[in-house]
Amino acid sequence: MLFDKDGKVFGECSSAREASHPFSRAIYVSSSALRDSRQKLHQEVLRKDRFLAILSHELRNPLAPIRMAVTVLNKIGPPEPQLQQLRDIIDRQTSQLTRLLDDLMDVSRISSGKITLRKTRFDIAVAVSNAVESIQPQIDSMQHELIIDIPPDPIYVDGDVTRLAQVFVNLLSNAARYTDKRGRIRLVVGREQAHAVVRVIDPGIGISPDQMSRIFEMFAQVDESLERQGGLGVGLALARTLVELHGGTVEAKSAGLGKGSEFIVRIPTVPAESMPMQPAEATIVAAQKPRRVVIADDNVDSATVLGTLLRASGHEVQTIHDGMAALESCQSFPPDLVILDIGMPKLNGYDVAREIRSRGDSHITLIAVTGWGQQEDKRQAREAGFDYHLTKPIDFVRLEKILVEIR
Ligand code: ADP
Repeated sequence: MLFDKDGKVFGECSSAREASHPFSRAIYVSSSALRDSRQKLHQEVLRKDRFLAILSHELRNPLAPIRMAVTVLNKIGPPEPQLQQLRDIIDRQTSQLTRLLDDLMDVSRISSGKITLRKTRFDIAVAVSNAVESIQPQIDSMQHELIIDIPPDPIYVDGDVTRLAQVFVNLLSNAARYTDKRGRIRLVVGREQAHAVVRVIDPGIGISPDQMSRIFEMFAQVDESLERQGGLGVGLALARTLVELHGGTVEAKSAGLGKGSEFIVRIPTVPAESMPMQPAEATIVAAQKPRRVVIADDNVDSATVLGTLLRASGHEVQTIHDGMAALESCQSFPPDLVILDIGMPKLNGYDVAREIRSRGDSHITLIAVTGWGQQEDKRQAREAGFDYHLTKPIDFVRLEKILVEIR
């Protein structure tokens, strides 16, 4: 292979003699050297992916108790409007941080091909509404107006409702960030032949034709001015991957800088009867019954905040910070539910669960809490005897549902 002095490939050479021709400015690189450098590059990429996965995982740990603390404050904090305003700020900002970390986590999942879709048939309007609900605080904080146009008849698609909502969140978040305050953002849902079509239209900074080709690339950031920061340059790359996993397309349009942008997502529709409907969200019919709960987490802040939250809901709680203490607690304070962090000193969460099950305490409900939510972690948790697996930061609504469901 022949390289020019800038390292660009410009041809192949058939022999070492040709490569060393005095008039040639080319450098001959042997195929084994090329293989070595490719292998090195591959290792570097794997290391970077691993780093991103660990980084996003580790950053979730401090974020979990902060989010939980805000939930507690919302529940039991003094109602003064000024304090409420500050709580809302922490809430909004930690939600944004969580979203960024989720994106980072997904980058490593994409690189290792580990994104899987949990498919059901649903009305695209459901994914759109979920996205709007989660992005509304960001829209409000910029004082934008969001005009939503959803047709009355359902448009069924076959896909992962959470992942599609994530796509719309990313597009709406961009529309909010790349538009000056008090902009009018439009979200239009419709049907075109065999596709559900979702358009996000903003009157913001727009995209120039030469930027257009790059915006869907991973880590591409066209506007690097500080005031527009708040993204990692992965949102559109992620959105495109997720849409393509659904057999769809995403396209950007803009008349140029300062002329606004339009992002169009197309997802193939399915007939209403072709797939099982998404199971309706279990509604809480039973009243909350007070439970005895042991929380074991070596992150003292996490355990304390979760404990406060559960006590505020009327449960009796014991918090401890290592695996051995968790086992002792189960004897001195027989619980209905044990919430176990996995990485703990003395005895890890899996071993604690195994020990509890081997003692025959099958009436105790066990919840594993980890920063990792991969299939493998869930399988390991199930095998150790856990009934549920939750990822950090814990979704408190989900936890409350479990508390209602348990025996
Ligand atoms: P980021 O985190 O930087 O927003 P994205 O992948 O979401 O990353 O977007 C990539 C780039 O595309 C952005 O940095 C921005 O320059 C451009 N972009 C995305 N959405 C819009 C929009 N609605 N208006 C103008 N530019 C946009």
